[in-house]
Amino acid sequence: MSLESRRPPPDPDLFARLKWILFFRLIIVSILFLSIIGFHLRESRAFLIPNLIILYFAIGFSYFFTLLSLLALFKIKRLKLLSYLQASWEVLFATALIYITGIWDSLFGFLYILAIIVASILLSGKGAFFSAVWCSIFYGLQIFGIKYGWIPAFFPPESELPTIDLIRSFFYYLCFFYATAAGAGYITEQLRKTSQELTEARIGLDRLEVLNEAIVHSIRSGLITFDAGGTIIFLNRASEEIFGKKARELIGKTLSDLFDPAGRDKLAEAREKETRMKLPYTNFQDQKFTLECFWQKLQNPAEQSLGELLVIADITELEKMEERLRVADRLAAVGKLAAGIAHEIRNPLAAISGSIELLKKKITPASSDAHLMGIVLSETERLDQLITDFLLYARPTPKTIERIKIDGLLKNLILILKTQVNNVELVLETEPEMIINSDPGLIEQIFWNLVNNALEAMPGGGKLVIQGGKEIRDSKSGIWLLFSDTGVGVPADCLYRIFDPFFTTKDYGTGLGLSTTWRIIEELKGEIQVSSQPGKGSSFRIWLPGEYIPGTKGGPG
Ligand code: ADP
Ligand code: MG
Repeated sequence: MSLESRRPPPDPDLFARLKWILFFRLIIVSILFLSIIGFHLRESRAFLIPNLIILYFAIGFSYFFTLLSLLALFKIKRLKLLSYLQASWEVLFATALIYITGIWDSLFGFLYILAIIVASILLSGKGAFFSAVWCSIFYGLQIFGIKYGWIPAFFPPESELPTIDLIRSFFYYLCFFYATAAGAGYITEQLRKTSQELTEARIGLDRLEVLNEAIVHSIRSGLITFDAGGTIIFLNRASEEIFGKKARELIGKTLSDLFDPAGRDKLAEAREKETRMKLPYTNFQDQKFTLECFWQKLQNPAEQSLGELLVIADITELEKMEERLRVADRLAAVGKLAAGIAHEIRNPLAAISGSIELLKKKITPASSDAHLMGIVLSETERLDQLITDFLLYARPTPKTIERIKIDGLLKNLILILKTQVNNVELVLETEPEMIINSDPGLIEQIFWNLVNNALEAMPGGGKLVIQGGKEIRDSKSGIWLLFSDTGVGVPADCLYRIFDPFFTTKDYGTGLGLSTTWRIIEELKGEIQVSSQPGKGSSFRIWLPGEYIPGTKGGPG
């Protein structure tokens, strides 16, 4: 099929009407044909009265013309012209039949009316009047033509009609034609207008529906509607994601199929108090969420209840961010205050250790005083280390930015550790070429803190696995590292406090390791997450940004 003929017709409506009219005409002509044969057989006249052979010709010709028109319909583009041609043909065909069957005695007068109706269907009022004019001309030509002998009569009338009767009859016919044209024209015009309005209204409604649906489905909050009996009748896409199931699986279910008793209690409370409620939620895929929910009554304009709408928002990320901000805030405040004090302590501390050092030179090394002074010195050293740690915590500003080969750095770290611990299995599983641009001092500090804590959590031995790789986050390249130990773990109620400065569970701990780590990672715009199972172990996952430069050499291979 060529492209040309596949193109839609210029006026699809007119095309359809033409098609139907042609089809309809084939049927009418067929019925006509059959009824004439029937009539002949019943009247038991000679089957082919010579005069009437022409009738069969007319029918045959009509068939031919109709088929030709059908062909033309699919080929030509000027459908209006084809319609006028059809309208004219109807009138001509009616005229021919009426003429053949003897005008006055003809049974086919109704064909004129049919012709006008067909024209009005095809071309509305204009077409109806066009046909009415044709009908008047042809009818007039016939009756007056035969009366005055311009044309031969096919069936000569039995008695000559007076002119006045002819004129009266012609006048009646004219009235009939134009009244039909006016009526049919009006009706088809009205029909067309109504159908056009209907189409427009339908298009408008369709658009509105599409828009509505788009809004409901694109909205970020989950929307769930319940009928008056509490059965779910609708869910949008966001709620599918939250529940972890498709809408079709959830429609027809009730609230108790979606929420556990605790969740349902919270929802009932939200409905009762007409407020928003936060609730923890675990979905069908075992994903954990923090949801914020509220209820909305659904009413029609007559204020009759149609059910209820439950709006749920996934605020999991928001909650986490709030928590992070809260911790960061607290750390910043404590840090500032304590950094000031630390400075003040350092000076007298230096004076104390200096003085002791001087005193120590004046006494014999073996005396008991010398031993006591040794204790003072080592304790002041410890205090000084604490303050150094603390100052790092308070001001972990990156000083030198270098290309750091993380896998090399970790390998070194493991080498050093292996000489110090023997009851802990140390495993390093990292991608090669993990290179970032950052401050090596700070990065080392992070690793030391995490590794130290892990080792301290496994006093009886265990396994420390360090894994890592490249990871792009928010289109920023960087690396991830996971420090997993098989140590004592952190009790759930302590987990949120381990990053607090001075929080420690150890007798000689400072509680500054993780808070410093947090501060450094924050300073480097990275992220840290912890998960822990008491008795089984803990893992700390960090992500650090730093433009990745492929092929950089550095560190031990
Ligand atoms: P410190 O090590 O001086 O106690 P940190 O800030 O490094 O201080 O750690 C705070 C607390 O977090 C520790 O006292 C310990 O209770 C807990 N902790 C940190 N890392 C681990 C770990 N890997 N396993 C178990 N507990 C840990
Ligand atoms: Mg520590």
